[in-house]
Amino acid sequence: MTADHAAELFRSTFGAEPSGVWSAPGRVNLIGEHTDYNGGLCLPIALPQRTFAAVRRRDDDVVRVVSAQADGLVEVSLGAVGPGNPSGWAAYVAGVPWSLRGAGYAVGGLDVAVDGRVPLGAGLSSSAALECAVVAAASDLHDLGLLASASGRSTLAAVCVEAENAVAQAPTGGMDQSAALLAEEGHALLLDCRDHSTEQVPFDLAAHGLALLVMDTRAEHALVDGQYAERRDSCEQAARELDVASLREVSADDLAEILPTLSSDLLRRRARHVVTEIERVRQAVGALRNDDFQAVGRLFLESHASMRDDFEISVAELDTAVDAAVRAGALGARMTGGGFGGSAIALVQADAAEATITAVEKAFADSGFGAPDCFVVTASGSAGRDA
Ligand code: ADP
Ligand code: MG
Repeated sequence: MTADHAAELFRSTFGAEPSGVWSAPGRVNLIGEHTDYNGGLCLPIALPQRTFAAVRRRDDDVVRVVSAQADGLVEVSLGAVGPGNPSGWAAYVAGVPWSLRGAGYAVGGLDVAVDGRVPLGAGLSSSAALECAVVAAASDLHDLGLLASASGRSTLAAVCVEAENAVAQAPTGGMDQSAALLAEEGHALLLDCRDHSTEQVPFDLAAHGLALLVMDTRAEHALVDGQYAERRDSCEQAARELDVASLREVSADDLAEILPTLSSDLLRRRARHVVTEIERVRQAVGALRNDDFQAVGRLFLESHASMRDDFEISVAELDTAVDAAVRAGALGARMTGGGFGGSAIALVQADAAEATITAVEKAFADSGFGAPDCFVVTASGSAGRDA
């Protein structure tokens, strides 16, 4: 149990008992990529992999953090926390009480020991898992009561987004934090990023003899930050040219008419991805509610082609994983997350999961890529107290 590991790390670091252990899951997005900052729809599930935080409340303003996945103890006063301070991984922890204060909650310092089981930087959102485990602890230890309701959890998600944007200075659109705080076991979370409403969509693949495979490519590519900003800027420019608040306002039915009015081929392709991707989320939700998994698989493939050709965020490793899974018989597969590395997913027959993993590993070896890390996941539960 990694809740025990986090507590043990707390004891050996701080020489005291933690008040408790809280955890939050990583996430994988089923469909709806780069739609969150366009006010669109996305459909993540929470992963079984979680990040655990053993935490004790302090009476002063000091935050002390240690992690099994990082070196050293970081200590910072809440008054000194701000953009870029602390730098590095501790920003994702110290940014949380800082952001809670900014939102008007009277919170003080914390001692925190982290043990994360969400792979770091694999596109499975270890950053949000870390923030959300800490915010769950802070909410309980300061009696904020925000874990008790969906609206309270939405507030906590917004607090974590602010911590990641402002202190860790990483752009994040909000899907990750909402998944970690609001997803339910056996369900995908339909998230409307325009009005922040959510719906639980049944996602129990095992009941249908199916499984979801995550294929972490372990590919690392430079210049990723600049690419994310470029995609965001392009989407905003396209929305400006179309005189709409966001690309969410554009209906897929009107696309053929509207695209030619954009000023460049690049903007046309960027906008086409976002508008068709939002429509694919709607169709995937309908297909899941009808148990039409063939349709879900087809939508995965259309989504991948759109990201590869129109949004241009895929890389050879992601395309290789998708192609190999499909050749091995997957109903569908697609890259997931921001792109330029990270993970892909495949919808497979449960009894074909192992053979698909072998096929993907072989395709990577044949292409001269480093070994991927492939594993089956199920839709799991959200952030809460473990011990
Ligand atoms: P992802 O969220 O997809 O895993 P990010 O780059 O957004 O990738 O976040 C990864 C970063 O989050 C790490 O580089 C580290 O700074 C921080 N982080 C996540 N989990 C941990 C952990 N268990 N211990 C220390 N830092 C962590
Ligand atoms: Mg992240």
